[in-house]
Amino acid sequence: MKNEVKVTFISLSVNESFARQTAASFTSVLDPTVDELADIKTAVSEAVTNCIVHAYPNTIGKITMTLKTDGASVIISIKDRGIGIPDVKKAMEPCYTTAPSEERSGMGFTVMEAFVDKVKVTSKEGKGTRVTLKKYIGSKR
Ligand code: ATP
Ligand code: MG
Repeated sequence: MKNEVKVTFISLSVNESFARQTAASFTSVLDPTVDELADIKTAVSEAVTNCIVHAYPNTIGKITMTLKTDGASVIISIKDRGIGIPDVKKAMEPCYTTAPSEERSGMGFTVMEAFVDKVKVTSKEGKGTRVTLKKYIGSKR
């Protein structure tokens, strides 16, 4: 079954849990395992946290999450209109962070890549960033 949902919320840390739960709820109809659901929540949580702390460091901005499914996988896009990433390849390297003083370990993208099947990042400095996460559900059963 095909489905699509789009939600926009502001970059408050309380909305990280909203996004995580919305993604889990959207995925539920695909009959995921507990592990698959936890993986999606973790990846969404990392992507949304990045928007909150990095994209809008000193302001509150909008985050749009689009959820799509074709019945076999979920594709989650998380978009901000924040500061953008000058070098995406570098930003995605393990342990790379621009905020070491804030106890960031630079592992967010690495975690996303470990928990979903595909992570795509597009960004433009001063314009914003889009992170697309794709995960197949039930493929190992
Ligand atoms: P951690 O996720 O371990 O707390 P981190 O957020 O620094 O640390 P990553 O999530 O891997 O690590 O992100 C790496 C870097 O990419 C960030 O330090 C930041 O510079 C940049 N970045 C990530 N997402 C965004 C975004 N949405 N907007 C602007 N910069 C971003
Ligand atoms: Mg991060």
